[in-house]
Amino acid sequence: MSITPLMPVYPRCGVRPVRGEHCHLIDEDGTRYLDFASGIAVNLLGHSHEGLIGAIQQQAATLMHVSNLYGSPQGEALAQRLVEKTFADTVFFTNSGAEAVEAAIKTARAYHQHDEGDANRTELITFTNAFHGRTMATISASNQAKMHKGFLPLLAGFQYAEFDDLECAKALVSDKTAGFLVEPIQGEGGIRPASQEFISGLRALCDEHDLMLVFDEVQCGVARTGKLYAYEHYGVEPDIMATAKGIGGGFPLGACLATEKAARGMGFGTHGSTYGGNPLAMAAGTAVMDAVANDEFLAEVTEKGERLRTRLEQFIGNYPDLFELVRGKGLMLGIKMKVESRPFFVHLRDHHQLLTVAAGDNTLRVLPPLVAGDEEFDEFLDKLSAGAASYQVPEAA
Ligand SMILES: *Cc1c(COP(=O)(O)O)cnc(C)c1O
Repeated sequence: MSITPLMPVYPRCGVRPVRGEHCHLIDEDGTRYLDFASGIAVNLLGHSHEGLIGAIQQQAATLMHVSNLYGSPQGEALAQRLVEKTFADTVFFTNSGAEAVEAAIKTARAYHQHDEGDANRTELITFTNAFHGRTMATISASNQAKMHKGFLPLLAGFQYAEFDDLECAKALVSDKTAGFLVEPIQGEGGIRPASQEFISGLRALCDEHDLMLVFDEVQCGVARTGKLYAYEHYGVEPDIMATAKGIGGGFPLGACLATEKAARGMGFGTHGSTYGGNPLAMAAGTAVMDAVANDEFLAEVTEKGERLRTRLEQFIGNYPDLFELVRGKGLMLGIKMKVESRPFFVHLRDHHQLLTVAAGDNTLRVLPPLVAGDEEFDEFLDKLSAGAASYQVPEAA
C-alpha cells in the first residue's frame, strides 16, 4: 500500500509543529518558527492565550456537547453578542467556514423560495478568483477550475462575474438572480480589497431588485482588518454573512449571520448541525469576542496594521525586482510580488523559519496573530530582509 494514512489531499511540508507559544510555533525537532500565517487567519490570539485556554478547559470539564434539540444558554449568549455587534438579527452556528457559506447560500435561496418570495430567483452571482470553501456548493460558487476537476457535476445556480467590476455584475442580473456572494477582501485570491464603488454598487442593485447581498467574511472578519467585520470599512451592510476562521481562535467554529428579513425562509426543520454551536465551541467563541470585540483592541489592530504596513512599504523599496506593492487592511496584508510568490514563501519557511502564506496573484499573505506587537514585527522584518537578501529567483521551468 502506498497511500498515506492521512488522505494525501494536502502537499504537507516538512514543518511539523507540536507546540505553540504566543506568535511562535515549535517543531518536533525543536526548531522555532515565527508564525505570521496564524493557521490562515485563525489563531488571532496567538497560540497560548490564557483567556481562551481557560475558557475551553473550564467548559470541557463542565459540559462539552449537547444536542441542538435542547435549549442553549451558551449559544443564546454568543448569538446575542454577535447580534449586538453586527448588522444581524439572528445567527446559525457551524463548525467551519464552508458550512457557514453553505448556510448563507441556503438562507439566500430560501428567502426567495419563501411563500412571499419569487421562487424563480435561484441564482447567486459570485466572482472570479473567489474562495468559499471545499464542499460541493462552495466549490460550485467559485470559478476556479482547479477546484472543480474530478468533482463534476457542479451544483447549479452560480454565475461568475469579474471581481471588483460592477458593470460586469450588473450585466448578469436577471429575473433568476437571487443575490451576490462576495468576499469584501479576497483572501486566497491575493488579499484584494474590493473598491468602495463596487461594494456600494452591489448594495444598490440588491435594494433595487430585492436581492440578497451575501458577504463571505470567513477570512477578513473578526477584527483582522481593525474592524470587527470588514464591511464596516465600506459602510455597507450585507443581508447575510458567513464568518469562521478567527472566531474560534483555533477552535472549529463558524456562523451564518442574517437580518430578520433575510432569514424569513429559515424556519423549523430547514437546516441543522449536530455539533454546530455546542457549549465547548460557544466557550471558545465567547473568549475570542471578550478579547477582540471592543474599541481598544480594534484600535490597536488598526495602529499595528499601519505600523507594519509602513515598514513593509519601506522594505519592499529595497528590492524593486522582487516586490511590487503592499495591499490589504489592518493585519490582513499582502505583498504582491513581481516573481512567483510560492517559491519565496517556501524559502522564508525553510531557510529563515518564517511562516507566511502564499496566495493567488503572486501574493505573499502576512497574517500575524492580532496580539503580535513591535517585538514580533522586528523579528518579522529581520527574517524577511534576510530572506530577500539570500533569495535567488528560480529559473522559469
Ligand atoms: C477559508 C475560507 C473558507 C472556508 O473555510 P473552511 O473553514 O476551510 O471550510 C471560506 N471562505 C473564505 C473567504 C475563506 O478564506
